[in-house]
Amino acid sequence: MSGPDRLTEPLSAVLGPRTAAPLAKLGLESTGDLLRHYPRRYSEPGRLTDLSSVVVGEHVTVMAEVRQATVRQMRSRGGAMLQAVVTDGRRSLSLTFFAKRAGVLNLHEHRLRPGRVGLFTGVASLYRGELQLTHPDYQIVGVDADDEAAALVEATRPIPIYPASAAVPTWRIAKAVRTVLDPLTPDDLVDPLPPAVRSRRGLVDLHQALRDVHEPFTDAEWRRGQQRLRFEEAFVLQAALARRRAQVAATDAVARRGAPPEGPGLLPDLDAALPFTLTAGQREVGEQIAADLARSHPMQRLLQGEVGSGKTVVALRAMLQVVDSGGQAALLAPTEVLAAQHLRTLRALLGPLGEQGMLGGADRATRIALLTGSQSTAARREALLDAASGRAGIVVGTHALLGEKVQFADLGLVVVDEQHRFGVEQRDTLRNRAGTPPHLLVMTATPIPRTVAMTVFGDLEVSTLTEVPAGRSGVVTHLVPSQNPAWTTRTWQRIREEIDAGHRAYVVCARISLDDATVQEATDDADLLVLTGDGDDGEQPLRRPLRAVLEVADELAALPALAGVSIGVLHGRLPAGEKDEVMTRFATGDVQLLVSTTVIEVGVDVPEATVMVVLDADRFGLSQLHQLRGRVGRGAAPGLCLLFSDAPAGSDASTRVQTLVETTDGFRLAAVDLELRREGDVLGASQSGGASSLRLLRVVRDAEVIAQARADSALLIDEDPGLDGWPALRHAIAGWLDPAREEFLERT
Ligand code: ADP
Ligand code: MG
Repeated sequence: MSGPDRLTEPLSAVLGPRTAAPLAKLGLESTGDLLRHYPRRYSEPGRLTDLSSVVVGEHVTVMAEVRQATVRQMRSRGGAMLQAVVTDGRRSLSLTFFAKRAGVLNLHEHRLRPGRVGLFTGVASLYRGELQLTHPDYQIVGVDADDEAAALVEATRPIPIYPASAAVPTWRIAKAVRTVLDPLTPDDLVDPLPPAVRSRRGLVDLHQALRDVHEPFTDAEWRRGQQRLRFEEAFVLQAALARRRAQVAATDAVARRGAPPEGPGLLPDLDAALPFTLTAGQREVGEQIAADLARSHPMQRLLQGEVGSGKTVVALRAMLQVVDSGGQAALLAPTEVLAAQHLRTLRALLGPLGEQGMLGGADRATRIALLTGSQSTAARREALLDAASGRAGIVVGTHALLGEKVQFADLGLVVVDEQHRFGVEQRDTLRNRAGTPPHLLVMTATPIPRTVAMTVFGDLEVSTLTEVPAGRSGVVTHLVPSQNPAWTTRTWQRIREEIDAGHRAYVVCARISLDDATVQEATDDADLLVLTGDGDDGEQPLRRPLRAVLEVADELAALPALAGVSIGVLHGRLPAGEKDEVMTRFATGDVQLLVSTTVIEVGVDVPEATVMVVLDADRFGLSQLHQLRGRVGRGAAPGLCLLFSDAPAGSDASTRVQTLVETTDGFRLAAVDLELRREGDVLGASQSGGASSLRLLRVVRDAEVIAQARADSALLIDEDPGLDGWPALRHAIAGWLDPAREEFLERT
C-alpha cells in the first residue's frame, strides 16, 4: 500500500492486538492517529523535573535521579517491600513496590542503582506527609535501550513525553510510534501542504516533521517539526474556509438595491423619523451592508459590536432596504424573550411604518410578524400566512423559524442575532434553501479576538461597531465578598435606593431552583461562555450550593429593606407567555426587581435598569459576565454591577471577576477570557482527543501563523478553487469538516 493508506492501517494489525488495545483507550486506532498523537513536552536527559510541580492525585511523569533503593522484609504483613527514593536535587519522591517474595524486588533494586536517572510515572499520593508513587512504571535513561550504542545516543536526546495514561506509560507510546514510523519513507505519506507553501514559509515536509517531533536528536528538531505541524493545522482550516468563501462568491443571489435615498421608501422614511442620529460607526457599517445587499452574490457578514452599540437599528435599516426592493427579511433571536423584545423594538422604531393594514398605518407601511414555537395556533397561522403571502416584510422569530416549514414569498435577507451556534452548517443550509439564497447578516456582542474570528467565522466578512452612542453613563463594577454580611446588607439597601429613584434592578442566579442540578440555564448558545464549576479550578473541593432564582426571590421578598418592592422571576422553564409578560412588566416598571437566570444575558434592553447583582459571579465566564453587565447603564443614569463571589484571592475564578471590575473593554475581556481557559474549553471539549482537533495550534498565541496560513490558502484557492491539483489537502479538509468538526465550528 502507499499514499495516505499507510496512515489508515489499524494499529491492531501493525502492532498486534495486545499493544494496540491500551492505545485504543487513548482514542488511537490507526497508524495516522498514533503519528498525530504528538508529545506534550520533551525532557532533557540531564534536566530533572522540579518535583514541587507534582500534584497529589494526578498521573505524573517525572525525570529524577535515584538516591537509594532498599528491599525490606515486612514483619507485620509478610512479604517484601522495596523502597526507593528519587530526587530532583532538592525535593524527593519515594517509590514503593510490594511483593510476596523479595526475589522480584531484587530486580528493581538492581536497576534502581543510586546515581541513575530515569523517568518515573504513576499516580502521586501522599503517605505520612511524603510524596510517593506506588508501583510506578519507570525507565532508566540509557539503560533500557536495545544495545549500548543506542543507550549512549539516547542518553543525550530529548525524550518525548506523550499524553499518557496509567495503562500506557509514555515510553510505551514512544515505542509504538517508532515501530510505526521507522519503516515509513517520505513516499508513504502524502503531504497536505503544497511544496510551494512549504518553501515560502521554510517548513519541512510531513515525513521529516513527524520524525522531528517523535524522534528528535536535538531541541531544534522538535521545534522545527512542531512549527511545520502547527502551520499545517492552520493551513488546512483556512483552506477549508477560503473554499467556502469562494463557493459563496460563485453563488447567485438577488441584488436588493433598496429605494433611492430621497425616497420614496421605508428606509428613507425611517431615517427621517429616527429619534436619534446614527453614530459614525452605525453609518459606516450601514454603508458596507447596503453595498453588500446591492450585489448579486449572497452577503456573508458578521457584525460584531460592543454591548449596547446599537446593532438592532443597523439590522432594521438593512431589512428595510430589502423590503424596499420588494423582498422580505427574517430576524432570528436565540430566545423567545429576545424575539419578543425585538418585535417590540422594531414596532416602536417603525411606528406607523410597521402597521400595514392597521388603523393609523402609513401608506407605504409593511407588517412585522412574530413566529415562535409556543404561540397560539391562531396567532401562528396568521403569522405563517403573513410570511407566505409576502404581506409581512419582516418576520421575527427564534431559530426554529428556519428549521420549520415556514414559507416566505421572497426571502431576501436573514439576520441572526446573538446566536453563536449559527455555524457553518446552518449557513450552508440557508444557502441551499430552495430558490436563490438570501443575504446573511450575523450579529454578536461577544467580542471575538481577530484570530478567533478568522478561525471560527473565517468564511464571513467582519464589520465592527466599537462606539457606543453618546449619552450612556456606563457601568461601575464592584466585587462583593458574599460571606460579608455588612456588604450584602448594603447591597440590598442600594437596590432599594435605586428603585426608590424610579430605577429597576436585576438579580442574576446560576440556576433556577435548589433541586435543579443544571449549573446554568442553556440559553441555546451559552455553553461557550459557561464554566461549569466542577473541575474548573480545582482549588475548592467543597463548594456551597449555587444560589437559585426561586429561593433568592423568596428571600428578597422577606427582606425588610425591600418591603413593598415588586419582585418578578424569569427563567427558561416558564411558559413563553409568562416570560414575555414578566419582561413587559419589567420594561414598564410594573416589576421593579427581576430575579433571573442568564436568559437575560443577551440583548435585553431596558434603559431604566440601573443595578445588577450577580450571585456566584465566579461561576460564570468572563464574556458572559460582560454580557450580563451590559444590561445596565443603558440609559442616562449610571449603571452599577455588583458581583458576589467567595472565590479565594489568586484563583482563576477570582482573577476572572477582578478583571471585570477593572475593565469594560469587551475585546480585552475576551482576550483574557481566552487565556484563562484551557484551549479545550474554547474549542469544545469534544475536540480535545478526537482525530481532527487542533493539537499544536493555539488561536491566541499563534495569531501570526494563522494570518500567514490564511494568506497562503487564499492564494491557492484563487488558483485552483476546486483544489483539483491537491487531493491530499482536499482529504485533510474533509477530515476537518466531518460532523465533529462542524460542531467545533459552530461552538463559538
Ligand atoms: P446592541 O448592539 O447591544 O444590540 P441595541 O441595538 O439594543 O444594542 O441598542 C441599545 C440602545 O441604544 C437601544 O435602546 C437603541 O434604541 C439605542 N440606540 C441605538 N442607536 C443609537 C444612537 N445612534 N443614538 C442613541 N441611541 C441609540
Ligand atoms: Mg442586541
